Amino acid sequence: MSENHESETRAIRGQMDQTQYREHSTPLFLTSSFTFPSAEAMADTFAGSGEGIIYSRYNNPSVDELVAKACAMEGLPAGFATASGMGAVFASLAALVSQGDHILATRAVFGSTHQILTQILPKWGVSFTYVEPDRPEEWATAIRPETKLFVTETPSNPGLKLVDLEAAGQFCRAHQLLFIVDNCFATPYLQQPAVYGADLVTHSATKWMDGQGRVLGGLLVGTEEVMEQVVFFCRHTGPAMSPFNAWVISKSLETLHVRMDAHCRSALAMAHWLQDQEGVGAVHYPFLPSHPQFALAQRQMRAGGGIVTFELDGGVAAAQQLLNAATLCTRSSNLGDTRTILTHPATTTHSKLSVEERAAVGISDGLVRMSVGLEAVGDIQADLQQGLG
Ligand SMILES: *Cc1c(COP(=O)(O)O)cnc(C)c1O
Repeated sequence: MSENHESETRAIRGQMDQTQYREHSTPLFLTSSFTFPSAEAMADTFAGSGEGIIYSRYNNPSVDELVAKACAMEGLPAGFATASGMGAVFASLAALVSQGDHILATRAVFGSTHQILTQILPKWGVSFTYVEPDRPEEWATAIRPETKLFVTETPSNPGLKLVDLEAAGQFCRAHQLLFIVDNCFATPYLQQPAVYGADLVTHSATKWMDGQGRVLGGLLVGTEEVMEQVVFFCRHTGPAMSPFNAWVISKSLETLHVRMDAHCRSALAMAHWLQDQEGVGAVHYPFLPSHPQFALAQRQMRAGGGIVTFELDGGVAAAQQLLNAATLCTRSSNLGDTRTILTHPATTTHSKLSVEERAAVGISDGLVRMSVGLEAVGDIQADLQQGLG
């Protein structure tokens, strides 16, 4: 496999070396540990001078294959796979901060990331400040001498606000901050934060990467320097991904580009259609010309992604009516599936926030998040039609 191949080719052909059985599709190494031909070979491996596979908490061929693909797709040299997206997000922060450090994060980070920043890291003396994702000109006012990291997510969940990655990269370089991006919503097919100087990119592979709602997984990919610390942290604290999940996700990456093209096409069609429906107020989608950051979206994303959010004039009652009337679309909190999923953030994923906190991240009572699946668009529209108005 050549480094000159496109990302799609590498996601398909970036398979581990064939074994003696000449298999075509990649094999699954469901084993916790590995053996050694001699005591000396074992000693060499432990000393770090031999071929490194020892134990699946450290590495495993099925997991390494997935990590290598993720690195190729993101354009970053080193990685580690975790049991869930939150395992990756937590490791990306915990491995890099020390007592007294300060983190800058864009508001409207993923719910559990918010919990890590507000409830967990403060126990170890690490503080944070939120800045507005769409106002980079204000970010510098929140910097302190002890600020170490800039953490961001774009597009945001569920508001679908974008962070200008180029501006963020320049900001991090100017202030010598490590630049960390949760690239789950966009996937490396739609956007590559490393192009703008990201030091570390995290993923919930549970979402579009698996794309079929089967397994949990997380990925960390970054520069050699940053990943050295992150891999050390992960190897000794144990968030490793199961080889089985790695095998499932690695197979899924073979079709990521095809699925994302289709998800994005359907999501754009749904966004346009929703704008014309009675009872539907604002529709949020990065590739709708009405999105306040439409030009930025076109600059840094290949397409708008698979998530559309929209506000129903009738508030909570209208949102619950829409969800209850659906017979094809499913009520679930997941996203990034072949099946279209409807979520009502105000009463579920974001119900613990106060009304003011929800307003600050753009979650009105009538906001519905739709993860657009791969069913026929006409069928999705007919299903929503039953619950509108
Ligand atoms: C789902 C999600 C996560 C967490 O991933 P899990 O695999 O559920 O642990 C983190 N960030 C974003 C943006 C997500 O959508």
